[in-house]
Amino acid sequence: MSKNLIITIDGPAGSGKSTTAKLVAQKLGYLYIDTGAMYRAMALKTLQRGIDPQDKNAVAELANRTKIELKRQDSTLRIYLDGTDVTAKLRLPEVTKAVTPVCQVNRVRQMLVEQQRRIGLNGGVVMEGRDIGTVVFPQAGLNIFLDASLKERARRRHSELKAQGVEIPPEQLKKEIAQRDREDTNRDKAPLRKAEGAILIDTTGLAIEQQVDKIVSLAKSLSV
Ligand code: C5P
Repeated sequence: MSKNLIITIDGPAGSGKSTTAKLVAQKLGYLYIDTGAMYRAMALKTLQRGIDPQDKNAVAELANRTKIELKRQDSTLRIYLDGTDVTAKLRLPEVTKAVTPVCQVNRVRQMLVEQQRRIGLNGGVVMEGRDIGTVVFPQAGLNIFLDASLKERARRRHSELKAQGVEIPPEQLKKEIAQRDREDTNRDKAPLRKAEGAILIDTTGLAIEQQVDKIVSLAKSLSV
């Protein structure tokens, strides 16, 4: 099969993008790229520097002096911010809060989209995010849009957090996810939406292996 396919996976928070993308990449021997982690790294830097994430000019200026790198280590993806591994900090609640304004700064998007295009240029990648099929690689060999009901996404987030020893009521999670959906889909820059021609997979009733197999089969059917 073609080794050079670009596979994009977009979808709302909790739709299973990361887990799915990671497993698809593993099965195909492709590189897995989590673009949300790149935006999170930029948000972390604004917090570390004491910059207001809402201050667009200051964030843009900071972006010009920032180096974000992705490195594969023992089959996991590590994110380096200016040479330091910050992977463990990227999911902290304060970073999740700061990323919403930071990812809407033009310069930040421009810089990270350029980098994502460079990484994926030669194919052999599974890249997941919000705008990968619409903005970064609309011409990709396979564009996927993952979705699931709000209730199901909240249920998944609840079990994930519970496994980490964090108990947040499902109703609260549902509200938080709905809020993120609104922010992601209504923003001016690169809003979350299904790319034209993208294949929609509703994962509500699917087990993770089923959605992975579906995408792997689609990729294989595109073999030359
Ligand atoms: O996927 P994750 O939750 O880690 O993404 C973090 C934030 O980065 C989200 O709020 C999302 O809006 C933003 N993002 C983005 N474009 C991407 C990936 C993520 O704007 N390609």
